[in-house]
Amino acid sequence: MAAHSPARRAFLTTAAFAGSALPVALAAPAVHAATDTFEFEIQRTDAEWQEKLTPEQYEVLRHQATEWPGSSPLSKQYETGAFHCHGCGLHVYDSDWRVELDKGWVFFAHAQPLAVMMNIDSDANYTMDPANARTMIEVVCRRCGSHLGHLVLIEGKLVHCINGTALDFRQRAA
Ligand SMILES: [Zn+2]
Repeated sequence: MAAHSPARRAFLTTAAFAGSALPVALAAPAVHAATDTFEFEIQRTDAEWQEKLTPEQYEVLRHQATEWPGSSPLSKQYETGAFHCHGCGLHVYDSDWRVELDKGWVFFAHAQPLAVMMNIDSDANYTMDPANARTMIEVVCRRCGSHLGHLVLIEGKLVHCINGTALDFRQRAA
């Protein structure tokens, strides 16, 4: 099934951002619904998502791609403010919950209350080697279902490992 192609999980690359190397499989619908009857509050067609998002945001939010580590300025920026979902604007994380880890993504101890949902990501593959594919817990926006990142265990702490690409940072006075 094309929607579960390991290639879909690959890290985004500069070439992918340029739009010249997008695999055909990416046209498949996102597979976020927890059950056949569950619907997220915000529903958009694939064309509407592509219109709203940059190509990079579209691949991360709607096709569960993972940004290249360190590619988002937010991975090294620790200013005070709120992090909103790029898909719908929901306040999903806050700098109050940031965890400082220099591993290339944006880490939080937890999300804003009732802001995210968990999903089973059964073929996440961050090694680009299908033999090492593993099940992970995916973090999605509660309102629009967009992929934000994963729950990961780092240095003994369970943290939200989030793509900066998925987040819209809004600074506030400290
Ligand atoms: Zn959202």
